[in-house]
Amino acid sequence: MSNVKDAPAREIDAARLPVMLNTLRLPTIGKIWTQFAAQSDREGWGAGRFLAALCEHELADRDQRRIVRHLRESELPPGKTFATFDFAAVPSVRKAQLTALAESDAWLDQGANLLCFGPSGVGKTHAAAAIGYALIERGRRVFFSRTTDIVQRLQAARRDLSLPSLLAKLDRFDALLLDDLGYARKDQAETAVLFELIAERYERRSLIVTCNQPFGEWDKIFPDPAMTVAAIDRLVHHATILEFNTESYRRRAAGEARQRQG
Ligand code: ADP
Ligand code: MG
Repeated sequence: MSNVKDAPAREIDAARLPVMLNTLRLPTIGKIWTQFAAQSDREGWGAGRFLAALCEHELADRDQRRIVRHLRESELPPGKTFATFDFAAVPSVRKAQLTALAESDAWLDQGANLLCFGPSGVGKTHAAAAIGYALIERGRRVFFSRTTDIVQRLQAARRDLSLPSLLAKLDRFDALLLDDLGYARKDQAETAVLFELIAERYERRSLIVTCNQPFGEWDKIFPDPAMTVAAIDRLVHHATILEFNTESYRRRAAGEARQRQG
């Protein structure tokens, strides 16, 4: 008798379920539940196992969707990953050091920095971007920008009084990659905003910097010597410094191509 009374309660409203899952933002469960329900019925899973299986799939997909979103927002240069990086081309930088940075959360959690120095074409941007990609794969958020571009954005924000909100937006990134810091010039732009960005993130949020100029030439970047010293102090206080002392990868690749032809 109870069978008859319970029967309608066991039926589920199959049309309403997708709506509910959508409202709860569970798209993966929406896609897989019928297949899993059939398997669960066939194999006699308990309700707990069925629910756990659905949740696990939803969470795994959610992680994946987040990574895709973080990759899109990062503006990292395409293709500059460790898969395409020839570690042997930069003997001055140990592979273990680069991969340790890529595989560790500790330095990001401490707001420590990574500074990559060396002449043009030696792979600074490529290596820094590769670390950025690896960090995103680990679930972190990274934003890549040429330093001159971000200085312009910060200045525009200062003009229309939205600097705090832009800084807050940038603050959501675990690491900000400032590419070619040495190209920012105090005579081109008011780079005091760059100092503000460095000071704002100090000991809280990481910066990854690539730069062609040694510190000795940074007085060309900041408006005055005191600000230059203060910026360097903050950047190096908790930092890994990598020196890319090698021949230009571009030039060497071109030379090898010529040799093969000749
Ligand atoms: P930098 O930032 O030091 O000026 P880049 O990272 O832009 O140099 O490198 C210049 C070019 O050479 C890029 O196309 C980069 O992908 C390539 N490249 C540089 N170093 C390497 C390397 N070790 N392995 C593979 N490609 C490299
Ligand atoms: Mg570069």
